[in-house]
Amino acid sequence: MELFEKTDMLLGLGNVGGIMRNNGRFTATEEISALGAGELIKIIDKNSRHKNVDFPGHKHASLYDVNKIEPDIHNYIKSLGISINLIKRVIDIKKHENIIDGIYLSDGTYVSGDVFIETTGSTGPMGNCLRYGNGCSMCILRCPSFGPRVSISSRAGVDDLQGERDDGELGAFSGSCKLSKDTLSDDIVQELDEKGVVILKIPEEDINMDKLKLKVCQQYALKEFAENVVLLDTGHAKLMTTFYPLQKLRKIPGLEKAKFIDPYAGGKGNSIRYLSVAPRADDMKVQGIDNLFCAGEKGGLFVGHTEA
Ligand SMILES: Cc1cc2nc3c(=O)[nH]c(=O)nc-3n(C[C@H](O)[C@H](O)[C@H](O)COP(=O)(O)OP(=O)(O)OC[C@H]3O[C@@H](n4cnc5c(N)ncnc54)[C@H](O)[C@@H]3O)c2cc1C
Repeated sequence: MELFEKTDMLLGLGNVGGIMRNNGRFTATEEISALGAGELIKIIDKNSRHKNVDFPGHKHASLYDVNKIEPDIHNYIKSLGISINLIKRVIDIKKHENIIDGIYLSDGTYVSGDVFIETTGSTGPMGNCLRYGNGCSMCILRCPSFGPRVSISSRAGVDDLQGERDDGELGAFSGSCKLSKDTLSDDIVQELDEKGVVILKIPEEDINMDKLKLKVCQQYALKEFAENVVLLDTGHAKLMTTFYPLQKLRKIPGLEKAKFIDPYAGGKGNSIRYLSVAPRADDMKVQGIDNLFCAGEKGGLFVGHTEA
């Protein structure tokens, strides 16, 4: 079995997430283990900096360390005998009738196969983040360096489905950013280290309820997130909002020197998701192609790691 990834790390957006086991995801997590993928859950639990954390809209969350998770998952995948090909971007397919014969990589290589599983996600690339967002926010997918996402199903002739916001605009903004913990005041860092969460009031004049409509995770679009800055300790300080103008953020006591570390342009925008979902059956087979399956966000408008 061969795995192709366009960047130099597995996990994609999983390298910047962190929240697991909150609300119904706890049950879903136990189901995933019962269904046989428990090793992944064990690795995530082992890398959790905090467990059983409550914050608005989230009960009993655990927060994994986004800076430490990837190598452990990488090694586990390798131990399964799966051959990992990094910095290998799939750009096209070869097919006859409804069967994919093989894939073409951006370096010109052709790889044939019997069955293909597409897990390219639904985010970006740059053109989409410009068209439906506030420009490339320089997110973890690093399209300018590693090349754009390519929808394999669409290359095979199957039209992608896309998410739509209230105003009819396509896609949705990712719902959080990360601040470097080094740039926060000592007391905030101490509280983050101890409790996993810090909630700070946003000055009245900067509260923006409309911003809640932009985000992917609409079930967490609560007024608490418009009235407060919610920080979580995922190794960096996860800032629970789509984006936040830096000079306004620095008005908040303790954040005078705050600096975005993900996405780098988190003061202006974020990655745009929900732009590429394959029509599929419940066995995850892509409709219209006999040997193409999909998984993760490519398989539906899912919000997070657990669902993906
Ligand atoms: C800022 C942010 C914070 C988040 N926080 C959380 C959180 O706290 N909790 C939570 O549950 N979820 C969170 N999520 C959502 C979660 O990360 C996603 O739901 C999940 O990562 C989707 O997984 P995926 O593998 O389907 O897609 P992705 O993570 O998008 O991965 C797709 C992968 O495919 C690769 N790829 C794309 N095209 C090609 C190609 N043509 N050839 C080769 N490789 C290709 C990409 O490089 C990438 O590695 C967050 C997302 C973001 C952006």
